Amino acid sequence: MEDSSAATGTRIGQPTPLGEAASFDGGLVEVADRTWAWLQPNGGLGESNAGLVVGRGGSLLVDTLWDAALTTRMLEAMAPLTEASDAPIATLFNTHGDGDHWYGNAGVAPGVEIIATEAANEQMRAEPPALLTRLAPIGPVAGVAARLPLLPGRPQLRGMAAFSAALGSYEFNGLEPRRPDLRFTGSLAIEVGARRVELIEAGPAHTPGDAIAWLPDARVAYVGDILFNGVTPIMWAGPVDNWIAALERIAGLDPAVVVGGHGPPGGATEVAAMHAYWTWLREEVAAAGDEGAGRLAERLVRSSAYAAEPWGVWRNPERTHVNVARIQATSGVAAPKPLGTVERIRLIAGMGALAERLG
Ligand SMILES: [Zn+2]
Repeated sequence: MEDSSAATGTRIGQPTPLGEAASFDGGLVEVADRTWAWLQPNGGLGESNAGLVVGRGGSLLVDTLWDAALTTRMLEAMAPLTEASDAPIATLFNTHGDGDHWYGNAGVAPGVEIIATEAANEQMRAEPPALLTRLAPIGPVAGVAARLPLLPGRPQLRGMAAFSAALGSYEFNGLEPRRPDLRFTGSLAIEVGARRVELIEAGPAHTPGDAIAWLPDARVAYVGDILFNGVTPIMWAGPVDNWIAALERIAGLDPAVVVGGHGPPGGATEVAAMHAYWTWLREEVAAAGDEGAGRLAERLVRSSAYAAEPWGVWRNPERTHVNVARIQATSGVAAPKPLGTVERIRLIAGMGALAERLG
């Protein structure tokens, strides 16, 4: 049988959506019997993964991608698999409310039932693609302002301009994705094509409404952005205790494969590394007292302790700025209120400034 991913996924060396050379093969990867991951190298901003679980008479899609073109390419690659088993996609589970995991929802057939947590649905309602389109002019304005010699905060302005330029790698105009038909809190067991799937809420952590899908028959966990592999995670919501608890819950399932939202599939080793990163960062932030997030994040990323750990080689170390700031803002808070647009822009600016300082 021909390898369908060879024709349709991004191969090593080919350009990723952000224009880098791919450092690992993308496309469809069979992680267990009739159980697939769709990978987008290099796992950076918007370079998100998805999943396909082929059953008898129906299949489950886990997440769509950030825009229509990326989603169409993926669905076309998946079609031979669902057609061969006469098992069209019947259910779509969105792991959380960040656009790179659901803006492509319009690409699935109207009859497909979409499921997510209540909290993810709230985020989706608050952050439709039109929001990014409305915010798009901020980047160029920041870029112009950053050239004014006497203006303070120029690295932050350059950071915002760079982030905005990266968004330009995707097409958000005209996207009108469907939000979930079925929403849950806690957990929900479903059956798709005679395969049992357990949906388990894990947030608020990465976002307000994170959840994972566990397939007992294949021992595969699709965990969305609770796991990044080879890429520094980013905590927009918190508290960090929830993220750590979610990783412990995933480890407790004893999965054979864990498909995260960004980077190649992993397993117990990758889950343990992410757990170690968050517990280490939680301790460092507590020990640092009231040191500012920007300075503290830079000190930590430059430390020999950081370099010696697995995260010393993860991409996007500047995300530790956001993680430090959110740990400071949410420690001891059970359900932090969702980030406002201004606060999010401030974090993105701080992250960009740190990236610049780190070179
Ligand atoms: Zn993501």
